[in-house]
Amino acid sequence: MQPICCLRCRCEIQSGDKSVAVYMFAQTVGVRPRQKSSANRICFCPQCAVSLAMGLPPDGALNMAAWGMIRELVSAEPSLNEAAWESLRGVVGLLPAGVEDDRSNRLRRAG
Ligand SMILES: [Zn+2]
Repeated sequence: MQPICCLRCRCEIQSGDKSVAVYMFAQTVGVRPRQKSSANRICFCPQCAVSLAMGLPPDGALNMAAWGMIRELVSAEPSLNEAAWESLRGVVGLLPAGVEDDRSNRLRRAG
């Protein structure tokens, strides 16, 4: 099976991971025989989905339509936000310890 990548940041999304999938296909209307394109699945990791949803509206009608759907999902309940938050916490945990020390030193000096 091909690994799924986030369209925006290209990070790999494991099956069962929280993510947002946008399904897309096109078909002709009023034309016989009806033509149907192959279906496409576009995935976003939680961070990108949340960041897109909270960001400014994109350019282009198709992007606007997808943006509206992603906003609907992200605003419906907090689990995507939580997943994005958790992975952000993971990144912060990987930062060198010095970063945190510098900050507390600065706070101490400021106080
Ligand atoms: Zn992403």
